[in-house]
Amino acid sequence: MTDYMIRATAANDAIRAFAATTRQMVEDARLAHDTTPVCTAALGRLLTGGVMIGSMLKEDRALVTLQIHGDGPAGGLTVTADSHFHAKGYVNDPHVQLPLKPNGKLDVSGAVGRGTMTVIRDLGLKEPYVGTIDMPSGEIAEDLTYYFAESEQVPSSVGLGVLVDRDWSVKQAGGFIIQLLPETPDEVIDSLEKKLASVSSVTTMLEAGMTPEDILQELLGEFGFEVMEKNEVSYYCGCSAERIEKALISIGPKDIQEMIDGGEPIEVGCQFCAKKYRFDIPDLKRIYDIQIRSKR
Ligand SMILES: [Zn+2]
Repeated sequence: MTDYMIRATAANDAIRAFAATTRQMVEDARLAHDTTPVCTAALGRLLTGGVMIGSMLKEDRALVTLQIHGDGPAGGLTVTADSHFHAKGYVNDPHVQLPLKPNGKLDVSGAVGRGTMTVIRDLGLKEPYVGTIDMPSGEIAEDLTYYFAESEQVPSSVGLGVLVDRDWSVKQAGGFIIQLLPETPDEVIDSLEKKLASVSSVTTMLEAGMTPEDILQELLGEFGFEVMEKNEVSYYCGCSAERIEKALISIGPKDIQEMIDGGEPIEVGCQFCAKKYRFDIPDLKRIYDIQIRSKR
């Protein structure tokens, strides 16, 4: 498997940790949306965080959606992940280009801007759990760290990184989430904080050839960590003509009638994977009939 994530525990189960390598997943997102480097980095970080958060969901059909509404030129980002190590997402404007920051890094916070991050956990119950924070940085990892502390009351450290090559392909992508459970002893917290402050960035570690296991060994080795699970992760949409048709049905008979009157087949693109679905006039008439019948 090229892309995978691990789940681990450390310090006698007082710490839970996740680490992932997601180069192919982020490259697939880039190819689907034709993202510029700064948008590849922003979306790749959110996808990597999302797939790890999705894996925390225990319910079979659970979904987590991460929505960023920012005032930067990218406009906003959406990522949805399931509990089976799949994630998908898009950037409102995937073609934003910005100069590099003085430190040579892609200016993700410049593209995202100031705004909010909303995390929607849909566990298949009547109401989803929704938490919204004001993003402290727009760099995404810090924002997720803040989300966990504020909205879920779980002290966490999130590291996410995407390295884009000169030809705009994804060279490295990955990340980690480390969470402290309430019983974590103070001395463990102190030494973990020192450790986190001293390690290099996720992309530097990945570029040095480190695997997710190596990254957690580096961060948590002194606390005795144990890998509990290892799973392949991937960019996966799961859209179908049926689902797109449902979306068309929901837009109302007046609009469908206009499309029928237009006399041309229509093409609907999936937001997440850019796959195109074509609806001919007989399909549109069938959809219209369904709408009219359901109104009676
Ligand atoms: Zn799709």
